[in-house]
Amino acid sequence: MTLKHGGWSRQISNRELPVATTLAGVNMRLTPGGVRELHWHKEVEWGFVTVGKARITSVDQNGKNFIADVGVGGIWYFPPGIPHSIQGLEEGTEFLLVFDAGDFSDLDTFTISDWFAHTPKDVLSANFGAPLSAFDCIPKKEKYIYQGKVPGPIDSVAIPDPFGTRNFTHDLLGQDPIKSPGGTVRIVDSTNFKVSHEISAALVEILPGSMRELHWHPNNDEFQYILSGQGRMTAYAADGTARTFNIRAGDVGYVPFCYGHYIQNTGKETLWYLEVFKAPKYADISLTQWMALTPKQIVSSNLNVGPELMNTLRKEKWPVVRFPGYTYQDFE
Ligand code: MN
Ligand code: MN
Repeated sequence: MTLKHGGWSRQISNRELPVATTLAGVNMRLTPGGVRELHWHKEVEWGFVTVGKARITSVDQNGKNFIADVGVGGIWYFPPGIPHSIQGLEEGTEFLLVFDAGDFSDLDTFTISDWFAHTPKDVLSANFGAPLSAFDCIPKKEKYIYQGKVPGPIDSVAIPDPFGTRNFTHDLLGQDPIKSPGGTVRIVDSTNFKVSHEISAALVEILPGSMRELHWHPNNDEFQYILSGQGRMTAYAADGTARTFNIRAGDVGYVPFCYGHYIQNTGKETLWYLEVFKAPKYADISLTQWMALTPKQIVSSNLNVGPELMNTLRKEKWPVVRFPGYTYQDFE
């Protein structure tokens, strides 16, 4: 953890989790008024707020600005190279950030304080047309996170922009979910959040006694962040290889491209988690749907199964299934 006045951050990249090659994650907390300073980076940034409320700011290459308050379940997306900042509001904030490179480090970004510190003061003076004395107190090195004051209402900080504004946020939790017998799924990608060219995601709710069905993804690796509850997952890796993991709130999981998997809720609480992909559109293949839409003779002879299984196969996807006979004790 990197601890600063104003907040902390901790990250999972391919340095800690070598299998994670396409995406890296950062969990950040900001105090009321705490600021992740003005910065930019080469990677895409996808953010999901888990606690409190954050105020984000940005300006794009056409001078369009954006200032927004994002609450729990809200997401943002900053394209590569687009500058931004994040600040905790009254109750502070915590959020997950996902970047589209396995070797990303949030401690290696372009920051406004670091750039000022590494530019000759006469150049700064000439650039802004301000006297040298204007730069007497600039930071000597990068701030990264610092303690600021809780800002006023969003209307009071608005900057009229002659070039217009550009939206970088979406209320994921607020969107209508896909309902399934064992829970819900909310999918966000470039079709319903236009700016999100390179990241797709699903916010999944698995009720006790339920399971995210057996499936895989035909486009890319899955980065997981467990938001609440506890569960179990088996990743099937072909060639006689598979491994089963217990997971719980705060864990990061990573399922490589095409690996078959499921997530069982093994607790008494609802399990909420995020699936994030470096892909413009969300896609999954359901094992049940595949079998249901394939000639019966092939499926039954391939698996040595009869009507007992064949008659249960559904043609519709049920992303989260429920087991009528299951109880919590079954997992203990
Ligand atoms: Mn950033
Ligand atoms: Mn999945």
